[in-house]
Amino acid sequence: AALYNVDGWGGPYFTVNSSGNISVLPHGSDTLSHEEIDLMKIVSRASDPKSRGGLGLQLPLIVRFPEILKNRVESLQSAFDGAIESNDYDSHYQGVYPVKCNQDRFVVEDIVKFGSGFRFGLEAGSKPELLLAMSSLCEGNSESFLICNGFKDCEYISLALVARKLKLNTVIVLEQEEELDLIIELSSKLCIRPVIGMRAKLRTKHYGHFGSTSGEEGKFGLTTTQILRVVKKLEQVGMLDCLQLLHFHIGSQIPTTALLADGVGEATQVYCELVRLGAHMRVIDIGGGLGIDYDGSKSSDSDISVVYGLQEYADAVVRAIQYVCDRRSIKHPVICSESGRAIVSHHSVLVFEVVGCSNGYGGVPALSTLGLQYLVEELSEEARVDYHYLSAAAIKGDYDTCLLYMDEMKERSVEQFKEGSLGIEQLVAVDGLCDLVRKVVGRAELVQTYNVNLSIFTSIPDFWGIQQVFPIVPIHRLDEKPSVRGILSDLTCDSDGKIDKFINGESSLPLHELGGEGGRYFLGMFLGGAYEEALGGFHNLFGGPSVVRVSSSNGPNSFVVTRAVSGHSCGDVLRVMQHEPGLMFETLKHRAQEFGHEDSVALANALARSFSSMPYLKPSCCLTAKNDAAGIV
Ligand code: PLP
Repeated sequence: AALYNVDGWGGPYFTVNSSGNISVLPHGSDTLSHEEIDLMKIVSRASDPKSRGGLGLQLPLIVRFPEILKNRVESLQSAFDGAIESNDYDSHYQGVYPVKCNQDRFVVEDIVKFGSGFRFGLEAGSKPELLLAMSSLCEGNSESFLICNGFKDCEYISLALVARKLKLNTVIVLEQEEELDLIIELSSKLCIRPVIGMRAKLRTKHYGHFGSTSGEEGKFGLTTTQILRVVKKLEQVGMLDCLQLLHFHIGSQIPTTALLADGVGEATQVYCELVRLGAHMRVIDIGGGLGIDYDGSKSSDSDISVVYGLQEYADAVVRAIQYVCDRRSIKHPVICSESGRAIVSHHSVLVFEVVGCSNGYGGVPALSTLGLQYLVEELSEEARVDYHYLSAAAIKGDYDTCLLYMDEMKERSVEQFKEGSLGIEQLVAVDGLCDLVRKVVGRAELVQTYNVNLSIFTSIPDFWGIQQVFPIVPIHRLDEKPSVRGILSDLTCDSDGKIDKFINGESSLPLHELGGEGGRYFLGMFLGGAYEEALGGFHNLFGGPSVVRVSSSNGPNSFVVTRAVSGHSCGDVLRVMQHEPGLMFETLKHRAQEFGHEDSVALANALARSFSSMPYLKPSCCLTAKNDAAGIV
């Protein structure tokens, strides 16, 4: 556990149990309920064939824990409740979940359900997100906010106005000044009085990777000049009472509470000015930014860690708002936040399997003395001289010179091979010799490449896109010392499809030798519940993983799977690119009838299975392939 710093990034939901497996504590370790579920037990229930009582799902697998979501929403609420009480703040906290972080239906519905007792709402940033937020909130608390952010056209604004008509507590937040005219025109046409918010472009700048949208040059929000113009225009049309919310977003992963307090303080000044100018302000919406400690280092030096916890965050926000409002004698506003990462990151684990290992330099066969003699004879004159210098340096123990002549000899041999004067066996022998030399001089590259049954582009897109690292850990054998170091290479035919950066700045991961414990080796990617699913693409037509939703039940290691869905099939991913699997199958079946003769039925069955199977590798596929082949040929 210490090697992977599980206690650092995993608490309070993940730990290593006495069997050396990762255990999940869906209610967190801080609560009275200490139910613990062994992740390996979930994986085997999900992936075992149906005949053995399993669900027969193929990996990769996302395991969702709705109880973790509940714990996150409740913990955030109670952090703000605590800060409000201890500071005598004179209003309340009412958060929203930005659905863009994970739009999965059950994630959104769960958050609405778990948060309805304290009016927890949703934030949408596009028309489909607004539609899903509207329908989800119909089941929630009518006072929950529905915050409409993002760039808007007349369809988006009309829909948001309709949402207000449907008695959803909708706030249309101006992202651009131009949206105001549309709101004025459409609300009058539809006879709906809107509640309007404004996104302010603050001067406070978050300099980390996730802060590129902050500061005066930021992409979003209204400048102070624009804010003033909006106020004047609303006043002119008799709608200044509609302006009730001020929103800002400094960026995701705010590293320190000092930066947070700086931004919140600046925004509260703007809020107070809006009150002074006559707007009926009620709410300050501090956006997202509540960070996650992905590497468990609790350090502000890295983009993937933060130095504060939920309580420090809430305290900093409440105090910063209160300080400014009290100095200006302005009534304390309702505090809204749009934390996404902090709510959904922990709730899901991506489990995937290692399917093989390329041994780096270690894979070249050892050389016999006879083989060596034969090799040397075949080398060109120059390469032979290099070899002799190399041997002499080796005898003297001059390893740097050894490596120098080794490289030269290798280069000359490759040239010779290209010219056609060296055979492939001799080239392999040169590689073997170089491998041996590296090992002897202690410069052997011990990092191996573990091939994983996964697409990084689909399941960990932020690693590819912005080099964000996540904790990746074997989910079993953690009571066994890992004996190798490896990088992970995925199934895509793309050199970017690899993971060679890990938490704590490591360029390889401690891994176990393959072949132990039933031969299978499973890894988990943790804290990836936010953004990764929505951002993932279909590179090489690898689709989404299978998903199970797991809740604890009474007793140690008891759990129920409340939902199980197989990942995208080949047919599903083909459809995404406008292919028509039904027609494709008919075309191929026709061809099978034409050329397959008596095997045409078996061929058609095999084709049908290909369309319905997942694009990922099936561990049992050798057997299945043999059976299919037997049926066909
Ligand atoms: N609100 C807005 C406007 C955002 O742009 C974002 C994300 O960048 C969020 C909320 C969610 O932020 P986070 O995931 O850091 O909580």
